[in-house]
Parts: sequence; structure tokens; C-alpha cells
Amino acid sequence: MPQKEDEPAIGRDERYNPQQIEEKWAGRWQRDPALYAAEPSSTKPKYYVLEMLPYPSGALHMGHVRNYAIGDALARYMWMKGYNVLHPMGWDSFGLPAENAAISNQTPPREWTLGNIEKMKVQMNRLGFAYDWSREVTTCLPEYYRWNQWFFLKFYERDLAYRKKSKVNWCPKCATVLANEQVVGGCCWRHEDTLVEQRELEQWFLRTTKYADELLRDLDRLPGWPEKVRTMQRNWIGRSEGALVDFRLDYSGGDVITVFTTRVDTIYGATSVQLAPEHPITSELAAADPELRLKVTQLIAEQNKAKESGDIATIEKHGVNTGHFAINPYNAERVPVWVANYILMDYGTGAIMSVPAHDERDFEFAKKYEIEIRQVIVPEITGEGARATQTEAELPFTTLNGKLINSGEFTGLSCSEAIKKMSAFAERYNFGKTTVTFRLKDWGISRQRYWGTPIPMVYCEKDGVVPVPEKDLPVILPENVDITLTGGSPLTRVPEFLNTTCPRCGGPARRETDTMDTFVDSSWYFYRYTDAHNDRAPFDSKIVSYWLPIDQYIGGVEHAILHLIYSRFWTKFMRDIGLVRNDEPVERLFTQGMIIKGGAKMSKSLGNVVSPDEMVERFGADAARMYSLFATSPDRELDWQDEGVAGIYRFLSKVFRFISRNSANTSFAETQIAATSQAPTLNNDGLLAPEARAIQRKLHQTIKRVTDDFQGRWHFNTSIAAIMELMNELHAAKDKALPVGLFADVQRNLVLLLAPFAPYLAHELWEMIGEKSNLLKAAWPKFDPELAKEEEIEIPVQVNGKLRSKIVVRPETTKEERKQKAVVDQKIQNFIAGKQIVKVIFTGKLVNIVVR
Ligand SMILES: [Zn+2]
Ligand SMILES: [Zn+2]
Repeated sequence: MPQKEDEPAIGRDERYNPQQIEEKWAGRWQRDPALYAAEPSSTKPKYYVLEMLPYPSGALHMGHVRNYAIGDALARYMWMKGYNVLHPMGWDSFGLPAENAAISNQTPPREWTLGNIEKMKVQMNRLGFAYDWSREVTTCLPEYYRWNQWFFLKFYERDLAYRKKSKVNWCPKCATVLANEQVVGGCCWRHEDTLVEQRELEQWFLRTTKYADELLRDLDRLPGWPEKVRTMQRNWIGRSEGALVDFRLDYSGGDVITVFTTRVDTIYGATSVQLAPEHPITSELAAADPELRLKVTQLIAEQNKAKESGDIATIEKHGVNTGHFAINPYNAERVPVWVANYILMDYGTGAIMSVPAHDERDFEFAKKYEIEIRQVIVPEITGEGARATQTEAELPFTTLNGKLINSGEFTGLSCSEAIKKMSAFAERYNFGKTTVTFRLKDWGISRQRYWGTPIPMVYCEKDGVVPVPEKDLPVILPENVDITLTGGSPLTRVPEFLNTTCPRCGGPARRETDTMDTFVDSSWYFYRYTDAHNDRAPFDSKIVSYWLPIDQYIGGVEHAILHLIYSRFWTKFMRDIGLVRNDEPVERLFTQGMIIKGGAKMSKSLGNVVSPDEMVERFGADAARMYSLFATSPDRELDWQDEGVAGIYRFLSKVFRFISRNSANTSFAETQIAATSQAPTLNNDGLLAPEARAIQRKLHQTIKRVTDDFQGRWHFNTSIAAIMELMNELHAAKDKALPVGLFADVQRNLVLLLAPFAPYLAHELWEMIGEKSNLLKAAWPKFDPELAKEEEIEIPVQVNGKLRSKIVVRPETTKEERKQKAVVDQKIQNFIAGKQIVKVIFTGKLVNIVVR
């Protein structure tokens, strides 16, 4: 450990001064860049612990600190357990905020971003996070994003990247595309009086749906993921089996409306057909009907607003009757055609049949607009009462546990039978078929923005769309682009970028000016960490197969869907092209809870933001980090209390004062004996005095508790509480004549237990108690289950209320065990032999056997 001459000398018997201690150690750690480096090859088992990489906004917030404190505690624990630990960090550094900042304060995105990275790295280092910075990944640099481009070409070669028309937000004043975040209340963020329009543009998509089935199925193979996240992904992928059925508009040559339904068995109960407001047939009908057109525009606006807030399921349902009719192909009935704001164009076919009697949503809608509700399923009740209650179902009756009525030739079938027969019927008569549909869509990766990875394609008049050859990568994002101007995507205004030659014919060609969604960057960055400087490939497959999958990934639950689905998709693709061998990127996932203050999410507008810098300044990094782990269990929401950080600060002060005073009193030789033994060799010759035995027991119980929590539930709050109790007992026992070896051993283990939570103080104390090794890789303490057990206790045994004997048991023994032990006791036998035991009475203190 390199030491520097001008380091502050930290004296014994002084006030705890976290600034002094932390600056001393931060300085030492930074002078040793290899300190946290993962070993390229090792006989140790590997452990890859990863926290989600941040967006370089310029300052860490407490949510980051909590996330990284969890990962850092785990990394430090695994180092102490003897693992070869990979614990890297990087920057998700493309994206819109850099462009917004450039527009508002005239700083180029690259400069702004790289400056922020520097600031945040200083904060991370000050907080003492143990990252292997030699593997740092910065996604906005060409050495990284060239591989995004390379992957894009691989997708393209396999027909997994394609172009299609898709809607974008368009501001007519800016004459440019807006990101969803730039649409405020339906208007442009720069032109608050200008309504945003929807325009169709050709855009690039990745075919995520090709992996939909596998992405769904493999969720069952991720037992280390929170069930909540797996459920969210299942719903997002949204697989449903059902049928497509054609309803034809009732005039000759009328268009066909294909509806998707999971309940074709209820089709005789369909009393309307409903179209999405953006359905082509809606547009067609509206084109000829100005009143309808106006209504449809409103429905689209309502739907967009609900989509923006991500809450389409709870939208207040509105619709409009088009005045047209469509024909149910099963019974030739004419049903009205409606347009409704809750029908999405990108789910199923964008059209449904509405069966109010057997669907919650349809029921609600029908009640509101007084559409007929016709029951066609009755509950299937078997056994007694079946005849009497057959039609008494409360509507809507939505389960499959029923049979059909009023359904023509299908009447009497059970729902599941009917689904099979009716789908087959539709196929036979050519008006429908069974199908599987997914809510998951292909991933639109085109962004009409500047600060992102250029998509490596060119357009040639002769050859059409031509990929940039691999050898010409990277397509460098030009600098010095004025992005404050309006009118088109920024890259279209850079002629030296835009104009190029066709790789195929050598003629003039135009580059693609769309850049990639930043979720591309985060879909595979954690592979790059394993081989961060490779300039011939995104990474070496051999190295990746050593490190992947990630053993433990830690981040916010807000990434449960997009980031974690895209990463899984990317992994499966890389496996299919032979780059990796793992099917899944992440073995175990942990989603930490949010930090709030005063009951609300921290935000500048509420003025309740807690700055990590301020916490470090007032209480030290150790206290701030440890508090974020102590306040509640890490998966729960944490309501930040400065007073709580102060409490941790006082605890750490107590530990500091205690050890700085008492390490001097312990004989140096004794300390060394304890220190050099690998497992704690305690003076357990059975002759320990009760006070010493109590401390020894507490020590082993604490080691067990903290170890169990790391291995299991991660309730670091209880781990830290246990360490506090140990400290209190040690404090209380200091004037008793503890064996010097035991005393030193407890102190030493206390420091080891603190190391993952308060690394600065632990390192200082480790040095103070005379340890020469590096605490980072000192062996994690072992506990002896025997020594952790509570002492046996003596219990008086009465017979008919008179004390006759005593038994000795462990405190955790059950009543039954105590009774068994009491009745076989020799002295008790003398009083109960030949008699009948009427009952046995237990109190906390004794056992009373009543005999007759
Ligand atoms: Zn605008
Ligand atoms: Zn060409």
C-alpha cells in the first residue's frame, strides 16, 4: 500500500474526524490503481457484481449512493470471502439531456458530458466505492459506439434490423422531430403554443419479437430475479393465444375489420366492433364524415395523453359510434362499429369485438353508452343445485369456467371446447384463424437526434440502402455541430457528414442521419467491461465466458422492463451468432427501493434534495453510505433523515474512540497472535468466565447474522444493528477482566465486520490495531455455530406443585422436549412411576407435572 509523506497522522484517543481519515485513505487508494483490479485469470472463483451505470448528469444523487453502497458492500464482502471480484463502473453518456444542456448553456454535448463524468468520478472516489477504473466504459466515445454500429450490421445481415414507417412527434415551428420527453402537454417544449403533430417517417427497428417466445419462457429460469420484475416482463411481453376473426362492413365491397380475441367462444355475445382511433378503417370512415373526424381527433389526443403518463389501462373510456355496421361471420348479425380511445393500434389488430356480458372493459363501456349486454356463457355448476342456479351469474362473467348458451350450433359446449371448435370453424370457412399475439413490439431504435451513435447505413440512388462496410467503422459522430438551430435532424445540416460515397458503386450517397436509441448502449456494456480495450472486437468471447453471466446486478426497478428486456434480447442474439455462450445476462437481480424525503420523491422543485457532497462534508462518506444501508432494508423505500446519518456518525465515533483507546492497552504480542490466525482461535477451553463467554457468544452470533444476511436476504439494516449490539456489549465489558486474546479478537473481528459498510474507518482501525495486511482482502471472519449457541439453562421441575428436580436445556428447546426430558429424569421418576400424568404445566421458568 503506497504511503505518502504528507498524510495526516491520525492520533489515538482523539475525536473521530471522518474528513481526515477518509482523505488519507482516499489518497492512498487512488495512488494504487491496481487495488480493485479483477485478476485476468485466477484459481479463485469469480464474482461479477455490477451496479447499473449512471447517466452523467453532473452530480450524484442519494439514489445513486444507495445503489452503489449496496454493490460496494457486496463487492468488499466477496473479496474478503476470497473471490476474484469484477466490480466496474461506466457512463451511459449519450442522450437527450446533453443536447438540452447544449441548447440552454451553449456548451457542446461532448464537452458537457465529459466534464460531468469527471465531476461524478471525483464524487464516487470520495465516497470510497471500490471500482476497477481500468475497465471504465464511456458509451459516447467512438471506441465504444463503433461496436454498437458493428452489432447493427450483424443484425442487418440477419434481417433483424429493418426499416419501416412509424409515427414521430413533429413540431412544425422547429421543423424537427421531438422526443417524447420534449412534448409537454401535447405541445413543443420550446414552443409552448404549438401543438405537436404526428408524422410518419421511415425508421430503423430491431426485430425483438423474433425472441418474444424465448424471452418469455426463460423468465422461468431466473429464480434469482425478483418475482415482481419477472411479472412485469411477462406482462410487457404479453403473450396471448386467441383467434383472428373477420367482420366485414355491411355494404357491398365493404372493408374487412379483423379483430383479435382471446375469447372467440363469446362471439355470439358481441354487440359491437370497436376500432382504435388510429386504425386505417377509422381514418377512412372519418374522411367522409367531418363530425366523426373531429371526435376521432379528440380520442387520439386522449389516448396519446394516457400513453405519455404510461397509464392506458386506467384511461377514462370514451368512444364514438361511426354509424356503420359490420357483420358477425358466425351468425350474420349486424353490429355497430365504434371507435374507442382505449383500443391501441399496436396491440393485436387494433380492432376488437365487444362482448359486454363477458369482459370487464366492454361491460363498463356498454353501460356508459347503453349498448346491448347479451349473456352467452353461464357458469358451469356441477352436482346439486346445478339446475336451479344455471343463469344466475353476475355480469360481467369473465372466467372460462362455463358453458355456452344462445350460441347457435355451439350451444352447450364448455368454453375451452368451444374455443377449439369455433376457431377451427372459422378456419374452415376462411374468415378467421387461431393466432398468438404479443404485446411486445419490435424495438424502434431510430432517433432523429444528434447525441447518439450514428446508424452505419448510406443511401445510394442506384443501390438503395447500403450498409457501411465493417472496415470503415466507426462512423464518427461529427463535432462542432450547432444543435441550437431548428429545421431537421442536426446531422442533416453537416454536409461533410451527410455526403459520402456509396461503398458499393462509389457514386455519391447520403448517410443515414438517425442515431441510435441510448438503450442500445446499455444493452451490452457489461460485456465490454470484461475486455474494455479490445479494438478488434466488442470483446473476446473467451474472456466473456469466464465472467458472464453477471452474478449480481443491482439497480432501480424503473429499469425492470426496457433495459432488462433489451439486454436479454441482445444476449440471445449474441449467443446465436456465436459470441457468447450464456443464454441470459444476469443470474441474480436486485432492485433497490427509492429514496424519498418528507414523504415525497426528492426534486428540485420541492426543495427536498439531499446532496451526497453535503452529507460527506457533515458526517463523512462512511456515515452517509452506512446510513443508506441501515435506515431500512435495501429493497424498501427509504425516507431520508439527516438525524439518522448523525446517529450512524455517533456510532462510528464510538467505535473509533473505543478502539483507539483500547488497542493501545492490548498487549501487542497478544494482538499479533490473534491477528495471524486465519480463523478466530478463541480461548475456548471451557473455562471462560461468564462475562467473557457472553462476549464470545455475541461475537459469533454477530458474525453469523452478518454472514447470513450477505448470503441471503440482504437485510443490511439488521446486520448493522447486530454490529452495533456487539459494540455495545464490548463497551460494557471493557472494565471486566476479559482475556487479552479474546478482547483483541473481538476488536479485530469488529473491524472486519465493518469493512463492507464503513470501509474508510475500518481501514484506519485495521492499521491502528497493528494489522499489516490489506483489509480489502483480509479473510472474512468465520463463526463457530457451537460458540454462537445460547448457554444451557436450568429449569426446576415440580411434581404436583412441589420442587423435585432440575433439568438443563438449551433456551430454544420446545415444551415437548422439556416435558420429555423431565419425565425421564431419575429423581422425577421416583415421584411419578406407576401414576397417571394428568397434565403438564409450563411457565417460562419451570415445569409442573400433575399426577394422580
Ligand atoms: Zn418547437
Ligand atoms: Zn451505389
